[in-house]
Amino acid sequence: MKKNKWYNFFCQNKLCKTHGKKGLGNLISNGHDRNGARKLFCKECEKSFNETKGTAFYKKHLSKKEIIKISKQFVEKSSLRGVARATGHHLDTIRNLAGDVAEHCFEVTGFLIKDVKLGTHEIDELIAQRTQQPTSKNKISFCTDANKQNKNGILKSFHKDSVDYGQVIKDKIMQIVYGVHKRKVIGNMPYQDISIAHVDGLCKALRERGKCFVREASTYPKKRKMIFIILSIYQAYHNLIDARKGLTPCMKEGISNHVWTWGKLLNAKVSVEK
Ligand SMILES: [Zn+2]
Repeated sequence: MKKNKWYNFFCQNKLCKTHGKKGLGNLISNGHDRNGARKLFCKECEKSFNETKGTAFYKKHLSKKEIIKISKQFVEKSSLRGVARATGHHLDTIRNLAGDVAEHCFEVTGFLIKDVKLGTHEIDELIAQRTQQPTSKNKISFCTDANKQNKNGILKSFHKDSVDYGQVIKDKIMQIVYGVHKRKVIGNMPYQDISIAHVDGLCKALRERGKCFVREASTYPKKRKMIFIILSIYQAYHNLIDARKGLTPCMKEGISNHVWTWGKLLNAKVSVEK
C-alpha cells in the first residue's frame, strides 16, 4: 500500500475517533488557505483543518521564522516591551504571541512528562523510589540557603528523625558577602554533601533570563498571567533546548533522546500516540 503522505499528521477534531492518532491514512490534502498554509481533510469525520493547527504557528500572521526569532527573545532577559522594540512589532502583537507560545510550551512539556512510557517497569520503579516515605534508616536529605521558612516547611512534611538537613549560609556584613559556611541543621549530613550549587544555578539562570525575576529590577509582573507566561516558556526552553555538555534535563530523565530546537518546540503537536 502506498504510504499516505500525511502519516505524520492526525485529525485535530476532538470529536473524531481518529483524533490524536497518526498514520491511519485518513487525511488527504485539501488545498491551501489564504496565507499559503496547507489544509488537510479527514475522511473519517469529513472536517478539514489547517496543517499548523495544534502548533504555536496556528492562526498567526507572522512568518514561522519571525515567530521563532521572537520566541528566542522571551528567554533573554527582555521585557515584552523590550522585545517589541527590538523586533519592531506592536506591543499587543508580542503580548498575544507570548501568551500563545506559553500555552503551547506548557502543553508540550506537560504532555512529555505525562507520557514517560508510564507502566513500563523502570518507570514504576522510579516512581516507587521517588514517592517512598523516608524513615530513620532511609532518610531524605535537604540542602537550602539560610532562609528560615525552609526548616518549618520541612518539619511540617517530615518527621525530624527521618530528615538530614544542611544549610549553606552566606557570611555577610551590611549586605556584602565575604564567604560561605555550612551548617548541619537536622540530622548528620556529611559537610561535603551539603551543597546548593544545582538549585542555585537554576535560580540564577531564571533570574538572569526572565526579566521580571531580576533582583531589584524596575519591572515586576503586575499580573499573575505574566509569571505563567515567563515560567512556561523558560521551563520548555530549559528542559528541552538548553543543553549542557550536549544533554538537556529531559534527555537525562529519558523523556527525550535529542536536543530540541525552537522550531521543533513550537511546531510540536500533542497527540495521543507519540
Ligand atoms: Zn477526523
